[in-house]
Amino acid sequence: MRKTRIIAGLSVAAAALLALTACNSGTPGTPGGDAAASTPWTVASGVTVDNSPTFTRIQKADKVTIGVKEDQPGLGYLDTTTNKRSGFDVDIARWMAASLGYGADKIDFKPIASANRESSIVNGDIDFYVGTYSITDKRKEQIAFAGPYFITGQGLLVAKDNTTITGKDSLTASDVVCSATGSTSIQRIKDETPAKTKEYDTYSTCVQDLLQGQVDAVTTDEAILLGYAAQDPDHLKTVGDVFSEERYGIGLAKDDAGLQAFFNNVLTSGHDVWQKIFDNNLGASGVKGTQPEVDPVG
Ligand code: GLU
Repeated sequence: MRKTRIIAGLSVAAAALLALTACNSGTPGTPGGDAAASTPWTVASGVTVDNSPTFTRIQKADKVTIGVKEDQPGLGYLDTTTNKRSGFDVDIARWMAASLGYGADKIDFKPIASANRESSIVNGDIDFYVGTYSITDKRKEQIAFAGPYFITGQGLLVAKDNTTITGKDSLTASDVVCSATGSTSIQRIKDETPAKTKEYDTYSTCVQDLLQGQVDAVTTDEAILLGYAAQDPDHLKTVGDVFSEERYGIGLAKDDAGLQAFFNNVLTSGHDVWQKIFDNNLGASGVKGTQPEVDPVG
């Protein structure tokens, strides 16, 4: 009884949040408008990064190649009509590039799915990755992370008229839950619930399946799900409490302690920039968050 009331309360709060988002954010994925109009960072010059094979490669190429997501409104999004990228992660990526001395015209963004992040870093296809990338010990066996620069938690997205799924503990063996291959989200559903799973490369494909009634829920980080819910508040809602801690890091090569320390220092000494990036992209959508402390290098 008590649990029901708490969840109902949350649903009302979530609905209010989505209504607010629908009013305030304009085009989904571009809350805060054109990033260039409110860029809170400056492009550095004469930068040196000691002990960084990646920075040496960047200097030779005279451009930075950054792995991102492009179907996550508010976080990493490409508007295919205007060809503009937006979102909290994309702006964190632009800030890091600017701190290395590389402005927008010297960034190549590459969309990389969750399952391919480690291999693209290990193979040197990208210089670093910024895209809802949780720091985990397993991933740290292959790559390194700077940060964390944000903390969220896993949640559930369901159809607006769904009354049976109210949170992780309500999932049953007859529910089909969709998530991205290679994500911490799909693994947790497999490990900790009786639900069946369906997986794709991207969360947006899961959301399409949900809207068509092919799956019962989509699961991933709440910050991502709130973006999808805000895009279609008449048909989608988030439910229940978050059930994990996802600490987002900047993925980079394992042997690059120099770049890791450099990014950590930029994050730590640039709180005002972080706050503006957050306010421009996520704060306006009602996502809660404060800048976390970075992990020690290693
Ligand atoms: N943050 C989780 C992860 O890194 C889920 C989101 C994603 O797949 O990017 O696996």
